[in-house]
Amino acid sequence: MVDLAGQYNSIQNQVNKAIKDVINSTSFINGPSVLSFQNNLEKYLNVRNVIPCANGTDALQISLMSLDLKPGDEVITVDFTFASTVEVISLLNLTPVLVDVDIDSFNINIDSLESAITKKTKVIIPVHLFGQAANMEKIILLAKKYNINVIEDAAQALGANFKFSNGKKQKVGTIGRIGTTSFFPSKNLGAYGDGGAIFTNDDELAKKIRGIVNHGMYKRYHHDIVGVNSRLDSIQAAILDVKLKFLDEYNNSRKIAASKYSELLIKNNNIKIPKVIGDEDSHVFHQYTISLNFKKRDELAKYFTSNNIPYGIYYPIPLHKQKAYQNDRFNDEDFKNTNKLCNSVISLPMHTELNDDQINFICNKIITFLK
Ligand SMILES: *Cc1c(COP(=O)(O)O)cnc(C)c1O
Repeated sequence: MVDLAGQYNSIQNQVNKAIKDVINSTSFINGPSVLSFQNNLEKYLNVRNVIPCANGTDALQISLMSLDLKPGDEVITVDFTFASTVEVISLLNLTPVLVDVDIDSFNINIDSLESAITKKTKVIIPVHLFGQAANMEKIILLAKKYNINVIEDAAQALGANFKFSNGKKQKVGTIGRIGTTSFFPSKNLGAYGDGGAIFTNDDELAKKIRGIVNHGMYKRYHHDIVGVNSRLDSIQAAILDVKLKFLDEYNNSRKIAASKYSELLIKNNNIKIPKVIGDEDSHVFHQYTISLNFKKRDELAKYFTSNNIPYGIYYPIPLHKQKAYQNDRFNDEDFKNTNKLCNSVISLPMHTELNDDQINFICNKIITFLK
């Protein structure tokens, strides 16, 4: 699905030097590379504060911890995503409210979102799934109307831009009150281990979050609030600082690969290819996800396996049906699109090193299979 070795080969010298510099300095925790990466990411995103942390799941948890929520407060998120979001909501004794997604964008459905809002709703967590920016303009309007916080989960979409109707563009993750991301190795900006970050333009909130990631300490050994230990380690920060310079180039390679896939698959009536909703920089193709009818999807997956073609099924089970999160509050009828997508999606190999021959090979196999 990804070619991390190929990508490393092209930046080997810079990465090796960055790692060696950290080892020579022995500043393994909160070394200068962490601050440098933080500053460079702030510039790249055009956001006032980046707070690095240990992973994308922690980034979501810490964001929720910073908002003075009470047990039972409702947090709205999507039914069709990785489990991190609902996991941290539940861990903090908040009430997850799941809503359906749009069939074309794979992102939060705005009507379902509005009808899920109650007096107890305190937070909305939209996920920019597969690299496609969610409709932040409509989400922010609703959040303002009902006075609700927005935490954007940009784990799969770092570098994507959302374009407002007035033409203004902003990087996803910097539009809501808080944004989060993950540097898991296969993400668009991947570390060589775990990593994550939190973004906010609210300086007061940023100060609070910097304490939460560090045991609730604002002065050494003075613990003002209950925090966690969640740091981006210096070696990962040094690697990310090298790779950040290539993020736009990497995202561009993904977009080129996506348009080649689409060019070859668009004529096939049995396949629904992913749409780009908005202008071309609103999608950074973390995944290239096609849909086809249920029986065919599972057969195609088997065919891929027998032809040594990697694939992913993101995601096979809606969150409302997961054992850990099942609840009488959820009505299966409310999740028509998620239910349908879980049965019909399949993601093709997508990374920065994909070449035309590989894409041609994969598409020819798919077309042959569907004949
Ligand atoms: C990867 C991912 C996360 C979690 O990130 P980790 O760094 O693995 O904890 C959260 N949300 C989404 C949408 C993701 O894709």
